[in-house]
Amino acid sequence: MDFTLSEQQQALQQSVRQFAQKELPEIARQVEETDEPPGIELRRRYAELGYLGVNLDSQYGGAGMSHLDAVLVLEEIAKISIAVAFPIFESCFGPSLAIAHFGSESMRNAILPKVCSGEIVVAVSMSEANAGSALTDLTTQARVEADRVVLNGSKRWCSGAGHSESYIVYCRMDKISGAKGIGAVLVPMGTNGFSFGKRDHHMGFRGVYSADMYFDNVEVPLDNILVPAGGFGKLMDAFDLERCGNTTMSLAVAQSAFDFVLDYCQQRQQFGKPLIDFQAVQIQIAEMKMKLEAARLLLYRAVVNAEKGLPSIAESSVAKCFANETVREVTGKAMQLMGGYGYSKEFPLEQKLRDAWGWGIAGGAIDIQKVNITSALVGRRFNQRAS
Ligand SMILES: Cc1cc2nc3c(=O)[nH]c(=O)nc-3n(C[C@H](O)[C@H](O)[C@H](O)COP(=O)(O)OP(=O)(O)OC[C@H]3O[C@@H](n4cnc5c(N)ncnc54)[C@H](O)[C@@H]3O)c2cc1C
Repeated sequence: MDFTLSEQQQALQQSVRQFAQKELPEIARQVEETDEPPGIELRRRYAELGYLGVNLDSQYGGAGMSHLDAVLVLEEIAKISIAVAFPIFESCFGPSLAIAHFGSESMRNAILPKVCSGEIVVAVSMSEANAGSALTDLTTQARVEADRVVLNGSKRWCSGAGHSESYIVYCRMDKISGAKGIGAVLVPMGTNGFSFGKRDHHMGFRGVYSADMYFDNVEVPLDNILVPAGGFGKLMDAFDLERCGNTTMSLAVAQSAFDFVLDYCQQRQQFGKPLIDFQAVQIQIAEMKMKLEAARLLLYRAVVNAEKGLPSIAESSVAKCFANETVREVTGKAMQLMGGYGYSKEFPLEQKLRDAWGWGIAGGAIDIQKVNITSALVGRRFNQRAS
């Protein structure tokens, strides 16, 4: 067991950090101010640098590197802002990875090179108004008719909805209720009958679109089926990697809040000495550091054990859950340590705290992850339904 990054990984981390600190703060500031995602030029720049599809095969335009390399890239970018990191998140941990693992060769060839070149972002649309934690209650239908799939229904809370160019839509592809009838279909923006509601506005995540999505007899070719009915298990396996992306985003927000406040506590003086000289402050800093280190190790374990495959539900859920709680705690403590300055929009902590909260809801609420963890421990699923 080796807990150090290789020389190449350290060099990668260093170069992404330099790029992020030099080129991204002003873009991130504008995104936060306007609530609009960064332009396509930034995606092209990421593509040039090889940051899109870091862990996708080179035959599809990816960098062919490991999941850990993708974590290192995403963390450095997301430390600046989660919104500017979103295209990287989606390309390295989002539905593109489900396509890479379970899509047909023609779907992989059609979609992944476009993802890696920054031409498109593929978002994932699972949740519905009445199917959040109870995802297997989803009702959006996809009916196979001759050489087409016809979709009807509506979706909610999809990150990127109304902005991303393509969507992996979880739908009921068979009349069977529960997980067994669920599959997933790729639906490009602009397909006839596919529309969006008014934009949602979250507490944080500014610059990340979200809106209801409506499917009114939307027709796509059979080739767009990612997995047919019965493939829900595969979708969830791919989602274990998405959880690691969520973990990385949480860690990045927490780490950047911590870095800022550690510096602040050494500068800010009260009672004639720096805040860091007060023992109560030292203890807060140490507690934050302990949580960060633990979150990082859990994340690294989940992705390194997965090698080029998909992480286990147990390891990805433990990592996600811990990082989701850590980011809330660390940003809260960091804000408190900055006093009035922490609460002011002139300083980054209030944005970090707003961005922090969402990760423990997105990708499965914290308590649902905890149920998954215990379920993996005892080797059986617990029935959550009213009997
Ligand atoms: C910032 C953000 C981004 C998102 N991005 C996406 C996206 O890209 N694509 C997408 O499809 N969805 C997305 N979502 C939706 C997200 O997946 C759901 O919000 C989440 O699964 C919870 O579903 P819900 O909101 O319906 O809450 P509910 O299912 O109503 O749950 C509410 C709360 O009840 C509790 N609860 C419910 N059931 C149980 C149970 N069985 N055991 C214990 N506690 C329980 C939990 O505490 C939970 O937090 C996003 C959400 C957010 C906030």
